Amino acid sequence: MTRKQNCLFAALLLAALVLAGCQAGFNAAPKAAHPEGITQVATIDALLAGVYDGHMSLATLLQYGNFGIGTFEGLDGEMILLDGAFYKVRDDGKVYLPDLTEETPFASVTRLVPDITAPINRPLDMQAFMELVDELAPRQNSFCAFLVRGDFVRMRTRSVPKQQKPYPPLAEVTKNQPVFDFENISGMLVGFRSPDFVKGVNVPGYHIHFLADDLSGGGHVLGFELARGVLEADTVHNWLNLFLPDQSQAFDNSDLAIDRTEELKTVEQER
Ligand SMILES: [Zn+2]
Repeated sequence: MTRKQNCLFAALLLAALVLAGCQAGFNAAPKAAHPEGITQVATIDALLAGVYDGHMSLATLLQYGNFGIGTFEGLDGEMILLDGAFYKVRDDGKVYLPDLTEETPFASVTRLVPDITAPINRPLDMQAFMELVDELAPRQNSFCAFLVRGDFVRMRTRSVPKQQKPYPPLAEVTKNQPVFDFENISGMLVGFRSPDFVKGVNVPGYHIHFLADDLSGGGHVLGFELARGVLEADTVHNWLNLFLPDQSQAFDNSDLAIDRTEELKTVEQER
């Protein structure tokens, strides 16, 4: 080899090594940088107790997932996070696109990486739907994040009105919750099934929000009849983060030793 050829060879070798290094780094990075799992803001019992002050911005929350549900500062509507975009269903039933500077008092997010995709070709009500998810993703002691894109014969949701201080407990607020009924609507179910052991921290069992494809409505799901759709489910084995409010007297002073199981039932389900 001439000296020029030597130089060229060395340069090519270096380029190959750098590329190989990048490749290895690229392959290894996502797992280390973004482990899959649930990130949660505050606890459901604190929300039941009336701790509605936001303490994490949507921009920050977005670093921990592209999929999830929750609520907003002052209990200002139902949150849906889907494909990295936040939607807010307020008590007027309309869908708003919240600013990323808005804060949340309670939310659960993850990066949805479905390990099951299943078409649904038969009508299912909410109960039958939950049984189907239990059948397809049977590991009840792990979390299951799921998304359904579907056509619904019937959908019933609710939202909650924004609260002023002093904040009443959630069970008081939902006594006057606006309920929305839809017929023949296409949209998405965004939900989690959480293990029984999350009691007090999150909602054991199913917690589902809905967003209409045309953004004409949505909210916290009370019931539905699904005609057809596609289910994507992700069994999640990591509860990565639980961010507790660090500047909240209301949180610090909440009695979180009380068993709020019955309260949660009245808040989550149809009355
Ligand atoms: Zn909800």
